[in-house]
Amino acid sequence: MKQISDDVFFIPGQDEFIPDSHVYVLGKPTSGDLTVVDAGLMGKGVYKIESMQKLGLALSDIKRVIMTHTHLDHIGCLAEIQKHLPWTELWVHTLEAEPLENGDERTVYGMEMFQSMCQMQYGLEPGAFNFKVDKKLEGTETLKIGGSAWETLHIPGHSSGSIALYNEDLKVLIPGDVVYADYAIGRFDLHGADAPALRDSLMRLAELQIEILLPGHNRVVTDLPAGYILKTAKQWEPYLK
Ligand SMILES: [Zn+2]
Ligand SMILES: [Zn+2]
Repeated sequence: MKQISDDVFFIPGQDEFIPDSHVYVLGKPTSGDLTVVDAGLMGKGVYKIESMQKLGLALSDIKRVIMTHTHLDHIGCLAEIQKHLPWTELWVHTLEAEPLENGDERTVYGMEMFQSMCQMQYGLEPGAFNFKVDKKLEGTETLKIGGSAWETLHIPGHSSGSIALYNEDLKVLIPGDVVYADYAIGRFDLHGADAPALRDSLMRLAELQIEILLPGHNRVVTDLPAGYILKTAKQWEPYLK
């Protein structure tokens, strides 16, 4: 748990046999306008909220949760967070907002076998992931939140409605599960995944100037070498057809 910059805070996931996604909190604390990016795995809501408090953030300043995408390891504890912070809005890319509102859980679980396993393990009822989405993102917006500007980019491939958040001034990229540290990329075999689209999304991210990479899992990188994403994309290109 730490402060990455003036207006980016990092709460690491606490993986179990299923990973728990990292959470980033965006916004200058003085702005009174904080954004939580992703939630995490079932049962991790209290940990995430207590971490925000330990970082000195005022919970009443948290205005919204933006999901990079709606896989179980990112959305599992969203309901827990909403229970503690019931005033927060939920912002999701339109392609994953619609299934979420219709109770179509195929994106959340990714595959049928995983669905029955998780429902059993965590006592989840069918229809547990049915949320009202307050803002449907297109992935073309510039969000003026918390005292800085974050571009949204639609980067499908890992899931249909994956988005990245990019801050050009800070050279920070939050790519969800599309690209990680150590030349790793997100899996592309789950419901809604699309390997050629993932390649195109990586090539698009490769055009950005990035110094700080804040992925959904594993290491965060605060001194990203130039050309890192292009190199990653090129390494994976033979598999992304
Ligand atoms: Zn994912
Ligand atoms: Zn994930």
